[in-house]
Amino acid sequence: MKHDENPAIPCDTLITASHVLTQNARREVIRDGAVAVSGGRIAAVGPREALAAYAPAETLSMGRALVMPGLVNVHTHAAMTLFRGLADDLPVADWLHNHIWPVEKMLTPEAVYLGSQLACAEMLAAGVTCFADLYFFSGQTARAADALGMRAVVGEGVLDFPTPSAQNPAEALALSLDLFHRLRGHPRLSAMVVAHSPYAASDATLAACAALAREHDAVFTLHAAEGVTENADSLEKTGRRVIPHLYSLGVLGPNCLLAHCVHVDDGDLELLAATGTRVAHCPRSNAKLASGTAPIPAMRQRSIAVGLGTDGAASNNTLNLFAEMGCASLTLKLVRGDPTAFPARDALDAATLGGAACLGMPDIGAIVPGHHADLAVLSLTRPNMVPFFDAPSQLVYAATGAEVVLTMVAGRVVYRDGRFPGLDVSTLGREVQDMAERLAAHRP
Ligand SMILES: [Zn+2]
Repeated sequence: MKHDENPAIPCDTLITASHVLTQNARREVIRDGAVAVSGGRIAAVGPREALAAYAPAETLSMGRALVMPGLVNVHTHAAMTLFRGLADDLPVADWLHNHIWPVEKMLTPEAVYLGSQLACAEMLAAGVTCFADLYFFSGQTARAADALGMRAVVGEGVLDFPTPSAQNPAEALALSLDLFHRLRGHPRLSAMVVAHSPYAASDATLAACAALAREHDAVFTLHAAEGVTENADSLEKTGRRVIPHLYSLGVLGPNCLLAHCVHVDDGDLELLAATGTRVAHCPRSNAKLASGTAPIPAMRQRSIAVGLGTDGAASNNTLNLFAEMGCASLTLKLVRGDPTAFPARDALDAATLGGAACLGMPDIGAIVPGHHADLAVLSLTRPNMVPFFDAPSQLVYAATGAEVVLTMVAGRVVYRDGRFPGLDVSTLGREVQDMAERLAAHRP
């Protein structure tokens, strides 16, 4: 190669691997592939020989491995890792009144920071690079995501009754506003508006939240149509089902992300489709709390954007999107009696491109030039990953997340082989255990 005719193209990192799953428009999987990363973004992706001109500062030779876009968790309450396994297999009212709410009341900023750090570590170790979080003391969750190098959209829960962080909705809205100011211009973190749900927030509170989200061109997210009695309760209180009620308040729209949407009828779905409203599907949480199965195929027929969320670790009990993809697909097959109801390809799309669409982040969810360099690398030498025919099938039905050997966010390696730069995970584990035991002691 003549030096002057083919000058080397400098880049920060070149990753090579036996397979690169792009999730591009043609859903290409490149054999013997490479990804060039520069300035935190994907500079090029293709067969290794096609990227030979790149002169990287660092090369990550991953061998027999799959490089894939980082997964996007569109609905979680990160700090609820503190309540993982605290109480399970109970009627929902008993679970909430006697276990979750009493300990939640005692939450402190420090507790939320610890629980959120643990959540970030858990997600990164299983290939999640971006999450949307709604909880209390949300500034602490942003701080944890920043410390671990994750991408995140965080929001402060607004409710009509006192929360651990706010006495009333006005205080919670002020915290939300503060979050917008503090995160403005941050390269990886942004704020969103959160109302807990139509049953925990008045019409005036919901309208104020929707206005704040519009003002900041931000996502507005809330739980909707999750429980079996929500529509009956809404009909009694407002004369409308949950979704038409939200529509009447002007809440629905392309910036609105509704979590769950389990109990929705054709009329509800038409409203979601007509307004461009998006849906966070949380199949494991819905199964564990026996909420039901959201009609995802009917949503997809109407081109409603659907992403996957883990919900909090009290109702799941992991923040693992590989488990979520598998559950999403298997549950729909089982409930519909149709093995084609939600194929692996669609579950993978929901966890990547669907998540990006739900959060209004068009430059994540795929490995294509110009996108953020958010990706995960899975070993293909683990017994459960052999033989390897079809990437979506392997990721949805065979992978567990434990195959992830490296996770990168914005071009920086933030997890590799069990280690997180700058974090002593065993010390964090002890601190979380102590904090969780102190909180659990407040149960009646
Ligand atoms: Zn939730």
